[in-house]
Amino acid sequence: MAILVCGGAGYIGSHVNKMLSRMGYETVVFDNLVYGHREAVKWGTFVTGDLKNPEEIEAVFEKYPIEAVMHFAAYAYVGESVLDPEKYYFNNVACTLNLLRAMRKHDCNKIIFSSTCATYGEPERVPITEDMPQRPINPYGATKLMVERIFRDYSKAYGLKAVALRYFNAAGADPEGEIGEDHAPETHLIPLVLDAAAGKRSDVKVFGTDYPTRDGSCIRDYIHVEDLASAHVLALKYLQKGGDTEFFNLGNERGTSVLEVIEAVRKVTGKDFTVTLADRRPGDPVTLVGSSEKARKVLGWEPKYANIETIVRHAWQWHSKKIY
Ligand code: UDP
Repeated sequence: MAILVCGGAGYIGSHVNKMLSRMGYETVVFDNLVYGHREAVKWGTFVTGDLKNPEEIEAVFEKYPIEAVMHFAAYAYVGESVLDPEKYYFNNVACTLNLLRAMRKHDCNKIIFSSTCATYGEPERVPITEDMPQRPINPYGATKLMVERIFRDYSKAYGLKAVALRYFNAAGADPEGEIGEDHAPETHLIPLVLDAAAGKRSDVKVFGTDYPTRDGSCIRDYIHVEDLASAHVLALKYLQKGGDTEFFNLGNERGTSVLEVIEAVRKVTGKDFTVTLADRRPGDPVTLVGSSEKARKVLGWEPKYANIETIVRHAWQWHSKKIY
């Protein structure tokens, strides 16, 4: 039996694909390569296809014995989701319905899904626990919450077993340096700061310096992509043992400010660069820090690379020799 990794050529999916393969699982990666990289799929079988075409995903289920699905295929630019919500609702929600339909047709009932802390919107307090209200403040977060809702209904009606993993800020890269983060355009803080450190960008902008935080910049919970990957493997084992549909936060339970990230990059790279203090970016929550107690208890998950400097070091190692 094989694990289908939809979106396995992307940043998080490629790290999960590598980990699954290294652990002896057979994987089939399905990706349209709109944002993914063919070079990131060095393990398992690769199929080019798009979830918007039902026949392409159904062909995969016909050809390979798929035991469970990991679903990373989604658009994830918050700003773009505000400007072009149709693109997000169609790709992230409607295309997921195509995937779920193909699964049902082929009696595959296990799915692990990339959800996000963006489903919480502006939280009432931190650390955020799974039972807190989910009130997304942008279409991207809304699409992920809709899929969670679909899982609840499909679980009751059709016996679907789903695990939705609500990532906080994914960061870092494969500690062995084979794969890493590469978005075009890049909007994420750590790769942008590394670009500045590498001299590929004239400066790094701090979006907002008057937030009610310890240094005035926004606080996020950065979580190593390798730790996200290990949570997916544990979620798979949980479903294989008969676990029910569940929703988990994945974060380090520690907040790091934008200025602290910049400091960590200076320290790890030994490079100096220009930091420009800029206006707030619309739609940014002040502080997002997740409680991962539930994932620790139920899945037995334990992040290995919680330190921000370790996360930045692995990202820098990849960034310095990017091969795609
Ligand atoms: N950020 C920043 N400058 C940048 C990019 C991001 O100050 O060039 C800030 C952003 O406002 C947020 C944090 O860095 O507070 C993390 O942003 P990112 O886009 O990496 O992830 P998000 O939290 O939006 O998912």
